[in-house]
Amino acid sequence: MSNSFVLVINSGSSSLKFAVIDSKSGEALVSGLGECFGLPEAVISWKYEGEKTEEAVDAPDNHHQYAINRIVSLMDTLGFTKDLVAVGHRIVHGGEKFTSTVRIDDEVLAEIESLSDLAPLHNPAGAKGIEAAMQAFPRLPQFAVFDTAFHQTMPQKAFTGAISNELYKEYGIRRYGFHGTSHYYVSREAAKMLNKSIDESNFISVHLGNGASVCAIENGKSVDTSMGFTPLAGLMMGTRSGDLDPGVIEFLIKKGWSTEKVFETLNKKSGFLGVSGLTSDARGILEAMAEGHEGAKLAFEVFTYRVAKYIGSYMIPLSHLDAVIFTGGIGENSLDIRREILNNLKLLGFVEDEAGNQAARFGKAGIIAKSGLLGAVAMVIPTNEEFVIAQQSVELL
Ligand code: ADP
Repeated sequence: MSNSFVLVINSGSSSLKFAVIDSKSGEALVSGLGECFGLPEAVISWKYEGEKTEEAVDAPDNHHQYAINRIVSLMDTLGFTKDLVAVGHRIVHGGEKFTSTVRIDDEVLAEIESLSDLAPLHNPAGAKGIEAAMQAFPRLPQFAVFDTAFHQTMPQKAFTGAISNELYKEYGIRRYGFHGTSHYYVSREAAKMLNKSIDESNFISVHLGNGASVCAIENGKSVDTSMGFTPLAGLMMGTRSGDLDPGVIEFLIKKGWSTEKVFETLNKKSGFLGVSGLTSDARGILEAMAEGHEGAKLAFEVFTYRVAKYIGSYMIPLSHLDAVIFTGGIGENSLDIRREILNNLKLLGFVEDEAGNQAARFGKAGIIAKSGLLGAVAMVIPTNEEFVIAQQSVELL
């Protein structure tokens, strides 16, 4: 039987992640990263059969195109070209236009570009990646998988901001939500593990990585999520503030801060980094906390308390709960953070399965707690967004 490999591309403003995914097994055969684009130190590196290779990006400009061309020759050298059946692009914003994965043609590309207003850093970079890949792989069909698409099933009462509805009509200001591919994947995997049909499964999916969001899922569909008009909303994150009284922004501007400085602070200097004054990295926070660092302890407490508050509030849209699902680098690996979140949810009656919590780490799924009160479990499912991108691309072929 022939192979069915998909080249998955996640093109950012100064980086480009790629992987060749076996669309049947989900295995990443090679994965790589181009970074520091736009700077003289731009590099591209990849991992293949456990070995890492790194090269300078040898081009004066258009580092995206250079990287894609390098990927083309890498595919040839590694012998993957003949087995590639599609290119799947991760695109951040699909607005209200894209509710599922689509095959890319000129019209779709133009739509993605026109949504740049809503995602000024991400969509132009995604479009750049598509253009470069279309040139480099003219024989391969290309697909766009949107971070927002899964959340397009949210009801109006969940996505509407309590501001003038004219702002929605005029500018599209509403809650869109992100991390959709991850919430989609882990909810499907959780239903399989629990032997339930996804159409009858209700979850609260908790993606905790550098970015973090919670999603309420009723009968397999997203009905609410914590990120909003932008990925700045909701939970405290590595460097993002999450929810914040908008009055703080006015206050700081009146103190003489520029809008750029305010939003740079909220996006890049807040969250774990801001509260701890130390690091944006959860592992670093846990290590410093063990050594008695007060800022790290506070960051841990604020983070876990806020995640718990979101989980509690996302009981509201659900008719029953099958599982709270933890995923993302923190959710998949930190039993301390998971434990503290569940400790903060005393009224929901979760009792930790200590052995289960120990075991479900480093890529292993499993049940970590049970609530007799809710008839629900808490579980860990490692996310795999690339697999979803590969599968959905092949499904549309
Ligand atoms: P991204 O959102 O960039 O994809 P990840 O999902 O990889 O990020 O998550 C990165 C976060 O996961 C970092 O804060 C990192 O410290 C945390 N993390 C990874 N491994 C562990 C671990 N063993 N214990 C605690 N946190 C971890």
